Amino acid sequence: MPHYLCHEQPDLLEFETTIVDARPGAVLLAQSALHPGGGGQVCDAATLAHADGEVRISGVSVEGDAFWHLLDAPVELPRERSVHVSIDADRRSTVAQLHTATHVLNALVYQRFAGALVTGAQINADGTARMDFDLPEADNDLLRALEAPVNDVIRAALDVRIYYVSAGEARATPGLIRSLSVAPPPTPDGSVRIVEIGDLDRQACGGTHLSNTGQSRPVRVVKIENKGRRNRRVRIELA
Ligand SMILES: [Zn+2]
Repeated sequence: MPHYLCHEQPDLLEFETTIVDARPGAVLLAQSALHPGGGGQVCDAATLAHADGEVRISGVSVEGDAFWHLLDAPVELPRERSVHVSIDADRRSTVAQLHTATHVLNALVYQRFAGALVTGAQINADGTARMDFDLPEADNDLLRALEAPVNDVIRAALDVRIYYVSAGEARATPGLIRSLSVAPPPTPDGSVRIVEIGDLDRQACGGTHLSNTGQSRPVRVVKIENKGRRNRRVRIELA
């Protein structure tokens, strides 16, 4: 899997490209700046304009190295046609805010609950997200009380930095790969993408994030649920 174009050019929301393959309701593009989703994060959506009209890209199906862009109509567009793609900026922003907030929440849980690991995560386009933690002994009121410190971090406007380390270095650094279920995406040279938030959090991740926590709306902790004996599910939303 290549480095995502959306990682190299996070501000690229409009681009011209060509349809290289097509089937009813889906196209393969010569290049794409859409985030394909993964690791619990929903994919980008976009509008694709072509010579005869417009169609919505509502999903991405990753099939081997190919990102099939799923259309919301069963049309089969002609190959080699030039198209203009506009990524849904509001959706990208909502997901980036929530995704960044989940890192902050994860870091605070990790610090305050003795290295508790994430067992699952889901980041939605509707402004809601959930994280599951392996926390057999946790007091749910203490988890709920993390809302204030999460918002303190947002207000503190910490820089979010992205860099790459070798797979060996990633494995050798304690706490860097912090999720039990969400493997960071591989890159062509085997390096691992690291997301660092101030000096609060540093972890391997292939998602979309803000470049500063201060760009986020505040978040609310909506609900804490017990999922089995060990797991706690924390539901958050953008306020
Ligand atoms: Zn992330």
